[in-house]
Amino acid sequence: MAEPSTPFQIDDALDAEVRRAAEVLSRARSVVALTGAGLSVESGIPPFRGKGGLWTKYGEPPLDGYQRFLEDPAESWRKQLDPKEPWARALRDTLSAARPNAGHRALAELEGLGRLDCLITQNVDDLHTQAGSRALAEIHGNYTLLRCTGCNVRFPRAGFPIDREQLPPVCPECGNVVKGDTVSFGEPIPADVLQRCFDAVERADCILVAGTSATVYPAAGFPVEVVRAGGSLVEVNPEPTDLTSLATVHLCGPGAVLLERLVHHVRALAEAA
Ligand SMILES: [Zn+2]
Repeated sequence: MAEPSTPFQIDDALDAEVRRAAEVLSRARSVVALTGAGLSVESGIPPFRGKGGLWTKYGEPPLDGYQRFLEDPAESWRKQLDPKEPWARALRDTLSAARPNAGHRALAELEGLGRLDCLITQNVDDLHTQAGSRALAEIHGNYTLLRCTGCNVRFPRAGFPIDREQLPPVCPECGNVVKGDTVSFGEPIPADVLQRCFDAVERADCILVAGTSATVYPAAGFPVEVVRAGGSLVEVNPEPTDLTSLATVHLCGPGAVLLERLVHHVRALAEAA
């Protein structure tokens, strides 16, 4: 599938800023990245809210989704498996058609270069994994996985035995109810993932934020914490955000193009060293 072509061009002035951002990343002892929906828009996944958004079209999921799941997990599962439920189908079709873009691939390469210790994402679309990122903390879960509500073990959704006559499915390890790994409204972020985030942020002296204005907690706290501890912030977003005033470098434009160029400069600096 061809990626949407972008008319965005990096001129000399912006490229100098990209190089400056690459120097910041290259000087850092430990870099953590934080990504959000903006990065996946370029892979054809519309944001949930706003024009063309999935929630705008199909209605927002219930704000007490997790409570409803806990009260009647079998019913939640029946709804999710119902082929006539337009919301569930639209989400599945959209996510399964999406492919990683140059921005996802650039972040995977940054990890491969040893310049990225942890990638925290708010996205559930699996595109960072598909691009090759491994040190990943998916704070809102991953739609391709299931998670045991008892022992937190994840299972690939594909191939997990689900008996429609005997819902909800249960964990083969501990017998507790299994739910989608995607974090529902009202559901706490799984403790293991949150701990990985806290550890990575505490270690980091540089945070790279891309495709998110990071206004939702806990993600909103991560850039602030790194900066408060004396670290640097590199922001890649098409518009200024509340973070921009804190940023060491703000690269203004689409994430795919800018991250690709950023990692090009990081690689060049590593080769020159
Ligand atoms: Zn379990």
